[in-house]
Amino acid sequence: MINFESLFSISYGLYIVSSGNSKFGNGYISNTFFQVTAEPPQFAASCNKDNFTAQLIESTGSFAVSVLHTEVHSELIGKFGYKSGREINKLKGMNIKYGITGVPIIIDDAISFLECKVIQILDVGTHLIFIGELLQADFVNKSMEPITYDHYRKVRKGLSPKNAPTYIDKSKLQKAVKSSYKKFQCPACGYIYDEELGDPENGIALTTKFDTLDDEWTCPACGSLKEDFFEI
Ligand code: FE
Repeated sequence: MINFESLFSISYGLYIVSSGNSKFGNGYISNTFFQVTAEPPQFAASCNKDNFTAQLIESTGSFAVSVLHTEVHSELIGKFGYKSGREINKLKGMNIKYGITGVPIIIDDAISFLECKVIQILDVGTHLIFIGELLQADFVNKSMEPITYDHYRKVRKGLSPKNAPTYIDKSKLQKAVKSSYKKFQCPACGYIYDEELGDPENGIALTTKFDTLDDEWTCPACGSLKEDFFEI
């Protein structure tokens, strides 16, 4: 048997992997980034083939990684984890520095950053694993604590989006008890829309069904799309 819930006990960090150049760049939230050798220092990042950033890493041959801290803004997770760089310019308004290879490195909410040159690409089906040799690494804000994937899930109530290598389909987990009013959770920041309570602060009356919310409605906490919410 495979108890999918037991897979949540595997420890990960939470990162933004970015690539591109001084004119255009993109990035995505990743928990699957890790060091694979010490001499020379080499790292691996797993990236869904559909991710716009995968295309950018392949074309530039380099990528940067920002190590996020526990106070990371939900809006940042919403933007980099749940939106596509094909639709929005994720780097707009961000605090960026450019690496040796010219890749944009996101400084916001980062403890540290790394820059890697791609030396090998492994095709593992849905994902590409980029193996990169380390070109540079440094602290951005040493006083912060790195956020772990466990913290993201338990404290921030976040989940993996569908194209993450660690995504687990809800049907594989235990079903929640049904009640007449449903609850829907934002996958990016953990905000819960409770039909019974509505969201009076934002003009949504008590007992407003989630299905009847406008399609343009977005998470009041982080701006994630309605279609990304899932029932809990
Ligand atoms: Fe949210």
